[in-house]
Amino acid sequence: MSYTGPEFDHPLPRRSRLRRPLAVTLAVLVPGALLGWLGYEALGGTGDGGAGRVTGAASGGPGATAAGDGDGKPAASASPSATATATATAASLAGKVVVIDPGHNPTNFRHPDEINGKVDVGTHRKECDTTGTSTNSGYSEAAFTLDVAHRLSALLRGQGATVTLTQDADRPYGPCVDERARIGNAAHADAVVSIHADGSGTGNRGYHVILPGEVRAGAADTRAIVGPSRELGKLIATDFGRVTGSAPANYVGDGSGLVTREDLGGLNLSTVPKVFIECGNMRDSKDAALLTSGAWRQKAAQGISEGIVSFLRG
Ligand code: ZN
Repeated sequence: MSYTGPEFDHPLPRRSRLRRPLAVTLAVLVPGALLGWLGYEALGGTGDGGAGRVTGAASGGPGATAAGDGDGKPAASASPSATATATATAASLAGKVVVIDPGHNPTNFRHPDEINGKVDVGTHRKECDTTGTSTNSGYSEAAFTLDVAHRLSALLRGQGATVTLTQDADRPYGPCVDERARIGNAAHADAVVSIHADGSGTGNRGYHVILPGEVRAGAADTRAIVGPSRELGKLIATDFGRVTGSAPANYVGDGSGLVTREDLGGLNLSTVPKVFIECGNMRDSKDAALLTSGAWRQKAAQGISEGIVSFLRG
């Protein structure tokens, strides 16, 4: 099986990394959930066009962009007539804490010694972090995970949730997988989602959500989170598939879109409900065309958001 998984050390992307200072700056400066969403919607187009390496078919989703712009819930909430609804909705997640873990880090590749250092994940010792994968055209998984994290953050904040990111390209590498778990624990998060895209073989397509298995070893004890994490993961998988139109992975999970693992430090060390999502396979050209589309990434964030919201509202 060519499945690699979120903590596998993928080959380095062939080309140099994107720099997105504008995106990061605006992410900090643009206040408010609505403005945040509008900002990212605008940046989605900029990100696609400005990526340079994401050209041709990969960024050629103008039709998809129009569709994505037209059918998203954020557009509905932007309508003045929906103000009352939006206000009521915003109150519904007040007091809820969500931690978003954008997988990898755009500059991990510059710090091989640090990210290859071993950390204790309870069951065993493993690498601090990995570089992540990329599309064949060089769009990095780390850029993808950050972009989806920003979009998801704006959506959840718009619903009134308190949102923390484990990293925002604001550190040279990592965090290490154990620290990623501890950030969620320390925040007493009601839900944590770690965002990834896979680096599997051509023809392997679709999404899957990774659930924590029951682990009790060393500092790891997942017994209390296996149940709620499964519920969270099932809701995210269902909503992600519905909103994006993607199918569950055709290469793991037997078509369920769900995979349980006991080897991921980010799950083993979590004491709060947590799942990973592999949004698609960056190494498959058809999936890559989706993953490199800003409009599709907005749908991905919307799907993940709806699953989290359903979970939090119980
Ligand atoms: Zn990954």
